[in-house]
Amino acid sequence: MDILAPRMSRFKPSPSQVASARVRELQAEGHTIIKLTAGEPDFPTPDNAKQAVMDLMDRNEIRYGPINGTQEMREAAQLKFKRENGLHYDLDQITVCAGTKQILFNALMATVHEGDEVVIPGPYWASYPDMTRLAGGTPVIVSAGQNNQFKIRPEQLAEAITDKTKWLIFCSPGNPTGATYSPEEMRALADVLVKHPHVHILTDDVYEHLIYDGREFSTFAQVEPQLYDRTVTCNGVSKAYSMTGWRLGYAGGPKEIISAMAKLQSQSASGVSVVGQAAAVAALTGPQEFVKERTANLQRRRDMLFEKLSAAEGLSCDLPEGAMYIFCCCAGTIGKRAPDGRVIENDTDFALYLLDSVGVAVVQGVAYGLSPYFRASFVAPEEDIEKGGDLIQEACAALR
Ligand code: PLP
Repeated sequence: MDILAPRMSRFKPSPSQVASARVRELQAEGHTIIKLTAGEPDFPTPDNAKQAVMDLMDRNEIRYGPINGTQEMREAAQLKFKRENGLHYDLDQITVCAGTKQILFNALMATVHEGDEVVIPGPYWASYPDMTRLAGGTPVIVSAGQNNQFKIRPEQLAEAITDKTKWLIFCSPGNPTGATYSPEEMRALADVLVKHPHVHILTDDVYEHLIYDGREFSTFAQVEPQLYDRTVTCNGVSKAYSMTGWRLGYAGGPKEIISAMAKLQSQSASGVSVVGQAAAVAALTGPQEFVKERTANLQRRRDMLFEKLSAAEGLSCDLPEGAMYIFCCCAGTIGKRAPDGRVIENDTDFALYLLDSVGVAVVQGVAYGLSPYFRASFVAPEEDIEKGGDLIQEACAALR
């Protein structure tokens, strides 16, 4: 009998692992690789968060915490939802997990019945369809193209909804495209959702603060109060505070779903690390001005990378409105031959060509459900963006 459970075959290793393996190989051979693949901001953890953890250690308060998060952490999340989203959640409507990722995982595992459908706008963060399948659901991908700034239209959402739809998973600003819905665009989608009371909304707001050019962030429960009772608003400290390693995410939502998520947590990891929670409390309740300064810094790097990619032969991209990535079309390189004789057949070939010929790592679009594209992260040192951009231009110019 197979040692592995059948559920393990519901998802495959991500295609981006192919490129990561090649990066490791080249590095082991002594090549220098410029990585435009980062999925995390590169700023330090805020000092007050570090201090809060040192104080916790001094007090020797590192014990098991409550399953749904410490009272302080849930109060900090409550304060954040009120301050930034105008949303009120009672403390028993809030739960805490090891990252936004585990929040999403627990929400799906706690609610999806075999055969339920989960609507996911594409291109998507690959974890959404995989988690859906793992929970026994069927991902229903609604594809948004570059011609609509990678945003789905209300009529597409309406068409995708059936009697079996359990959730819409929604992420704005999104990964991999940075697509950011304006309050008006959210309103138009909310109008569709209001007409389908059986559909719940799982909004992944982790990129809330990585939003550029003065754009305004909004989230469904805020845009349309009628959706409040069927929305789980998910967030975390990873991107806003550059605290990825602390593994801290939180959600506000209907009591029934939130307590089911905590029940699931109770039989997996129990309450998440109190160390991460102490750091997150300090970040969420401390000074917030630096968050804007960091965003401005990322916006400058976005502009640098955009300028470089826009000037490369065969590539076409639009300026992303949020997140940390440019999702760039490489259709103009497909079918061309590289100096080493290889023909670029698809975006995976293109990503591997960049890696092998000029030592620049990006992630192929197929990993996010749209080809021929690639995702280039602008979280890299400025000199890497400058040099990496020049090298991408060189590699494109060498194709015939
Ligand atoms: N959601 C999206 C869209 C992401 O891109 C990521 C990380 O890359 C996460 C969630 C994970 O966030 P966390 O570190 O809070 O688990």
